[in-house]
Amino acid sequence: HSSAARCMLYDEIMWKVIQKDGADHLDIMTAVSGKRKQLKLTGPFCYANKKKRGDVQLILDRDKKRLEVHRAIKAAVHDLHKSKKKKVGMDKGLATLLSCSSGHEYGFNFSQLVNAEAERINRRNTNRNKYIQAAKELRHELSALQAKLAIKHSAKTERRLRNRIGSLERRISRLEERHLGSKLYHRQHARKQCNMERIMNMSIRKMLLTEKPDVLVKEDLSFTKENLPKAANRYEAKVRRKLSSWSKGTLDDRIEYLCDCLGIRTVDVNPAYTSQFCPNCGARFSERKGTHHELTVCPNCGEMNANTAAAVNILRRADDKNITLYTPYKKVEKILEDRYANKQSVMA
Ligand SMILES: [Zn+2]
Repeated sequence: HSSAARCMLYDEIMWKVIQKDGADHLDIMTAVSGKRKQLKLTGPFCYANKKKRGDVQLILDRDKKRLEVHRAIKAAVHDLHKSKKKKVGMDKGLATLLSCSSGHEYGFNFSQLVNAEAERINRRNTNRNKYIQAAKELRHELSALQAKLAIKHSAKTERRLRNRIGSLERRISRLEERHLGSKLYHRQHARKQCNMERIMNMSIRKMLLTEKPDVLVKEDLSFTKENLPKAANRYEAKVRRKLSSWSKGTLDDRIEYLCDCLGIRTVDVNPAYTSQFCPNCGARFSERKGTHHELTVCPNCGEMNANTAAAVNILRRADDKNITLYTPYKKVEKILEDRYANKQSVMA
């Protein structure tokens, strides 16, 4: 660097913060290979231990006679007037994207979008089938001719065979180009996916801004199962499974990302049996109702919204000492059943 320079940019591998003589020092590379320079940090803040290090900028302030270390950090915005931490439990689904322990739900009928896309892909593939079949027949004919050509023939027969093969090859490539191409398909699918992502984003944002949680409690997604609506055929079922797992992954990513941006902490809890026991009395639900199983029946409390009931259970699980993220599935069931039995015997 030159003496006239006022600022220098340091890449994340070019700097680190070290402890020396009980104080933080900025350790930086110099223009001389292998030689590093250490500068004592005198400011009140040190963000060196944040996970993502990123670049720093060293700025020389000639008036104040000091060297400043500038660095962009992601900071959570906290409302200082709010003393109590607000925890919100949340259940994720496909029929309704987000259901909160407050009783509010966001992103209704999301599954309609997923279903429409699954049906569209299915329809498209049904239409394609006749072209696939035609191409297959042509290829079959082609390989038969090629086998024939391998044997020795008269010049005339050979010419005739070659002409026929050439015409077949042209027909196949035309079919592939015009009817079996995937360019349009990928473009259309990307557009639909983009639309679904937009709706997810909107729902999450709306939820976070309405509920205003400090801590968001959600299920650890990796083990959850989803009741998918009945598909017309095996192929459509496969498409639906694929789409719904894509939706789940994207939904989870977006939640994490948006919470991170807004400074909301997320807590993952054990998902086992969150939708099977009543949050009020602890009894096991007797049946599920509704087109998307959105209603559930408790033998003591009656009918209630299954999703928001699950959200309340998820919220409670954050403070549950006995059910941790790693408690096995069957053991969770036993704990919940025992709790209800104990409660009953106390009441008796
Ligand atoms: Zn109940």
